[in-house]
Amino acid sequence: MALSIEDQNRLDAFWAYCVKNQYFNIGYPESADFDYTNLERFMRFSINNCGDWAEYCNYLLNSFDFEKEVMEYFADLFKIPFEQSWGYVTNGGTEGNMFGCYLGRELFPDGTLYYSKDTHYSVAKIVKLLRIKSQVVESLPNGEMDYDDLIRKIKADNEKHPIIFANIGTTVRGAVDNIALIQERIKELGINREDYYLHADAALSGMILPFVDDAQPFTFADGIDSIGVSGHKMIGSPIPCGIVLAKKENVDRITVEIDYISAHDKTITGSRNGHTPLMMWSAIRSHSFAEWKRRIEHSLELAQYAVDRLKKAGIDAWRNKNSITVVFPEPSEAVWKEHCLATSGGQAHLITTAHHLDSDKIDALIDDVIADAQNRAA
Ligand SMILES: *Cc1c(COP(=O)(O)O)cnc(C)c1O
Repeated sequence: MALSIEDQNRLDAFWAYCVKNQYFNIGYPESADFDYTNLERFMRFSINNCGDWAEYCNYLLNSFDFEKEVMEYFADLFKIPFEQSWGYVTNGGTEGNMFGCYLGRELFPDGTLYYSKDTHYSVAKIVKLLRIKSQVVESLPNGEMDYDDLIRKIKADNEKHPIIFANIGTTVRGAVDNIALIQERIKELGINREDYYLHADAALSGMILPFVDDAQPFTFADGIDSIGVSGHKMIGSPIPCGIVLAKKENVDRITVEIDYISAHDKTITGSRNGHTPLMMWSAIRSHSFAEWKRRIEHSLELAQYAVDRLKKAGIDAWRNKNSITVVFPEPSEAVWKEHCLATSGGQAHLITTAHHLDSDKIDALIDDVIADAQNRAA
């Protein structure tokens, strides 16, 4: 087995392209400062985590022991006793959201799922795939859910078993839905705690909030039933991945027995990536709490720096509390294309992920945004 010279050249060219662009990213939340070189030797094995890490599996090349330790870490971070939790390493935030919504639907088959307009597009797909009744709730100007509209809609639907999809850091504006307020307002409707489900989509901020001093409520101790986080975002990984964590009692309802691998399966896919649990394990083992904290403080400081610089130049930039997403009015197409910015509804954002050790790239973008605004005003 060998590639032709032309094909080898194509790979070499793609390699050079990747090296050149590895830190391009300022509009998307993927950190690029990871180092998994000590895991490269495992690429020669077909590692497969089919099924549940908590059970015996006769597919020997699995990384279950590592996956279990990853889940222990996140159970601790998200404040649920490990024995009362169950979760796994997913293909990303979307699969985690799907798993959470699946649990909610199995608990309340006729329940309506409520999610705000600022919710990630994955949820629209998930409600179709799972055929869950759903309602889109209005958003507040900062991207949080409009709590009055949520309550109005639950009332109008006469919904006795709402499934709440809360954003812990929205994609576009980094807004965190106030789950304390949501729970208070639902209680006022006379709906008891055991009669609704609360999933937290913490794709990006799930790895920010545990490390700040004044975090908004988002953990199991604050009342969530499940949470999804992306691994390739704040943590960083060469392969998309994530984690999902839920209450074990809810997971036990969806377990399926598979005789030929002699295991019980609770996960959405069959075969599962066995390499990404090693990456998540390696990431959490190689960073102390204090190191994550420093890394996140740095990103938050850089975000505030960007807000301050833009505002000083008269540009209406802002960010939500504890967010590394800086929102500003959409610049000209030439500028957002040049810097690979994501734009939505007349707004653009930059995200100060951890590989931005200094402000060089951010300054270059800010210079262009300011020059563009001055050109347009002239
Ligand atoms: C990125 C993102 C997702 C989807 O995560 P993937 O890892 O890309 O599947 C879901 N929700 C939010 C808020 C996100 O930012």
